[in-house]
Amino acid sequence: MSADKPAILGGTPILSKKVPVTRPTVAPRGPEFYQAMDRVLTSGFLTKGAELEGFEHEVAAFIGVRNAVAVSSGTMGLTLTLRCLGLLGHAVMPSFTFMATGHAARWNGLEPRFADIDPHTFAMAPRATDSLTTSETALVLAVHPFGAPCEVDELQTLCTSRGIPLILDAAAALGGCYPDGSRIGTKGLAEIFSLSPTKPLTCGEGGFIVTNNDDLAKELRIAREYGNPGNQNSVVIGLNGRMPELSAALGRHNLPRLPEWLARRAEVAARYQDNLKDTEGITFQRMPRTAKSTYKDLCVIIDRELFGLSRDMLADALRQEGISTRRYFDPPLHRQAAYRQWAVAPGALPHTESVADGILSLPLLSDMSADLVDQICSVILRIREHSAEISCRSARGGAGG
Ligand SMILES: *Cc1c(COP(=O)(O)O)cnc(C)c1O
Repeated sequence: MSADKPAILGGTPILSKKVPVTRPTVAPRGPEFYQAMDRVLTSGFLTKGAELEGFEHEVAAFIGVRNAVAVSSGTMGLTLTLRCLGLLGHAVMPSFTFMATGHAARWNGLEPRFADIDPHTFAMAPRATDSLTTSETALVLAVHPFGAPCEVDELQTLCTSRGIPLILDAAAALGGCYPDGSRIGTKGLAEIFSLSPTKPLTCGEGGFIVTNNDDLAKELRIAREYGNPGNQNSVVIGLNGRMPELSAALGRHNLPRLPEWLARRAEVAARYQDNLKDTEGITFQRMPRTAKSTYKDLCVIIDRELFGLSRDMLADALRQEGISTRRYFDPPLHRQAAYRQWAVAPGALPHTESVADGILSLPLLSDMSADLVDQICSVILRIREHSAEISCRSARGGAGG
């Protein structure tokens, strides 16, 4: 009997092994990989060497952009970009993003102004952005949520008409495409990528600022070097934002496999959708048909009424089955402690609130089998079938059952 029950009600988990929500993907390592690592270690250059230069060229070519400036993280890339632009005033950005988007603005003294998102794409809504833009707005800092492109053309039109730059936090989006087929990285004044371990392409820790603006690229290369142009007379309050050679070598090793991993991620996302699309109470992130997401995360919205359980109850039930999930991005920035000062009036960001409330990232690994996706989906369906019982149990305080 109990074999048919979810683990949270005392049943046996369907899956025999734990499933993480994400896992760093590293290409297979043959002798050339170890030779490359050894070459770095014996070259006399652990930073600022041939691997960095090679990686920058390869990433620029992959995206189809004039300049790719490698840095130590996505956060560093965002922070240095805003520093080089020397802006003052307000930065219009979504609250529904990773905290580093807001932090980069604050480290540069810019005041965040939070625009609401589209409830289906989770990306900053151009109309909400427009209504927040004033004479004090210094820039628009948009985000490609979970690697799916935001409405960049509308935002660019708005920025052009106001004479302010559009900077894109593309941290999760390396390898993704806009609806017109161009790669993410080719729009706005600059787009910033992250290569931290949870992103589809990783080199341990790292990031890239990509731009077709040669002057900005030149300034960024100085800024990542403490602001030192080479004569010890700093021209900007820079940082040490360099990407180490070993990381660059690892990134170069992984980059050729990225298209294959992204194709697999898209297949996994499609399989989840096929399995769960008729399940009431679960909806998927939407995007234009011709756009390509990297599926840095596979996010669904759980509607408490229709699913029978809240997002948190489902997450708890999945955890007991050995299936990890994440609540990205909850709380959104305007409700985080560090952003107390920039809290907004209740009800000012209705879509941000409702998406943050219902969102759940399901496991997505670049080498995940279709079987594993099917099993996770059957676990979700089984939990849903027992939703009334699970919900009673959690109302009683979680014990017993
Ligand atoms: C990962 C991420 C960042 C930060 O990148 P790091 O390399 O971890 O510093 C910033 N913004 C978004 C949207 C991200 O997903």
